[in-house]
Amino acid sequence: MKTGRREFLKLGVAAAATGLLPRPARGQGAASRVVVVGGGFAGASCARALRQADPRIAVTLVEANATFTACPFSNEVIAGLRELSAQQFTYERVAADGISIVPSAATAVDVAGRSVALAGGARLAYDRLVLAPGIDIRWGALPGYDEAAAAQMPHAWRAGEQTVLLRRQLEAMADGGVVVISAPANPFRCPPGPYERASLIAHYLKAKKPRSKLLLLDAKDAFSKQKLFQAAWADLYPGLIEWVPLSKGGNVTAVDAATRTFVTDFGRHQAAVANVIPPQKAGRIAELAGVADKTGWCPIDPITFESRLQPAVHVIGDSAIAGAMPKSAFAANAQAKTCAAAVARLLAGGAPSTPKLINTCYSLVAPDYGISIAGVYAPAGGQLAEVPGAGGVSPADAPRSTRAAEAALAQAWFRTITGEVFG
Ligand SMILES: Cc1cc2nc3c(=O)[nH]c(=O)nc-3n(C[C@H](O)[C@H](O)[C@H](O)COP(=O)(O)OP(=O)(O)OC[C@H]3O[C@@H](n4cnc5c(N)ncnc54)[C@H](O)[C@@H]3O)c2cc1C
Repeated sequence: MKTGRREFLKLGVAAAATGLLPRPARGQGAASRVVVVGGGFAGASCARALRQADPRIAVTLVEANATFTACPFSNEVIAGLRELSAQQFTYERVAADGISIVPSAATAVDVAGRSVALAGGARLAYDRLVLAPGIDIRWGALPGYDEAAAAQMPHAWRAGEQTVLLRRQLEAMADGGVVVISAPANPFRCPPGPYERASLIAHYLKAKKPRSKLLLLDAKDAFSKQKLFQAAWADLYPGLIEWVPLSKGGNVTAVDAATRTFVTDFGRHQAAVANVIPPQKAGRIAELAGVADKTGWCPIDPITFESRLQPAVHVIGDSAIAGAMPKSAFAANAQAKTCAAAVARLLAGGAPSTPKLINTCYSLVAPDYGISIAGVYAPAGGQLAEVPGAGGVSPADAPRSTRAAEAALAQAWFRTITGEVFG
């Protein structure tokens, strides 16, 4: 009898509690075992693609949370345009594909012995491991910014409670207040994300608190889709958003959570609402597995996504150094499928084929105003390089109907990707 999806979930919970995790029997013709850590856009997608590539592979997905909360469109939640529940997804459909879901945090990896340790103490053996743990915040890299400070100056860069906290702070702010956002140096999750967030908060302020201002302190002198964002800000939010680049004193060197103050080399800015988007690194388990280098991110082979530091461990999604590919959900999903195809081939004794990957990042400047950037990537010189002439950005002088059509495309993209990964 086929085990139903509820039984799979229950099996995972019970097994994790007792330390007796279900493992396929080994021996001649036994199934290969792939453990995937992290059930986000990269990990859940990879687990499903592995089962599709070869249903004989026993796939286990280790995920710390019972519900996944998606970051794309979480800026809309902050601006009061949608509820957090619209961002949340469960793993029932993933389990229904025959993937064993283990609802636990992975705490260590024994690369030599090829096993993953779980929070409850149990171990999971693997033939190949895929790590897809997303990002962690580099607590302390920005002086004054630790977990306690994040309760006053939310980052909201991992969606959930922090997203709601930032929204509530904006709602509680008096009209005339100054909202300050700080954006980090590259690389970080979702390069256009801080600028989409500034736009949608400006949309909220314009409608609800029109005497307020938004200051965007940036550790960079240039950003993704910059010309498109700045033209749209001049058009939709004149005088509301002030962007301060690195060369004009935008680099934040410290924060004081008690007074919601940002310190730069050029002065201090006190905020009514403070959003710190801090420096980031690969999810902690990557570091513990020895696949992160001194940058905090994980070097990989661009064909298989196998770690350059540890054998039989693959890294996908935001944690990976994927060359010119940005850290996006779209990219994570594309990498997941490429990695799954390569792992299935390797387990079958074959050679993986050279991939081409696509990314598109949509951003909303207003609910009915969308812009995008797209790229195609292929292995070159040991990295994923952008294929020249294959990508592009939205046209600079497009009519509002084009911007509205792109906003609708962005919504459709979110429905499609979450349907594919979790539905
Ligand atoms: C505000 C904002 C807006 C964004 N908008 C867009 C957008 O419009 N389009 C786009 O393409 N991208 C967007 N992104 C980027 C996108 O969210 C990320 O690039 C994407 O989530 C990366 O996928 P991932 O699977 O690598 O990581 P995640 O989606 O974060 O998934 C990682 C998973 O691993 C789990 N995990 C971590 N460690 C462990 C462990 N030790 N054991 C078990 N489980 C673990 C976590 O619980 C989590 O579920 C946005 C990001 C932000 C912050």
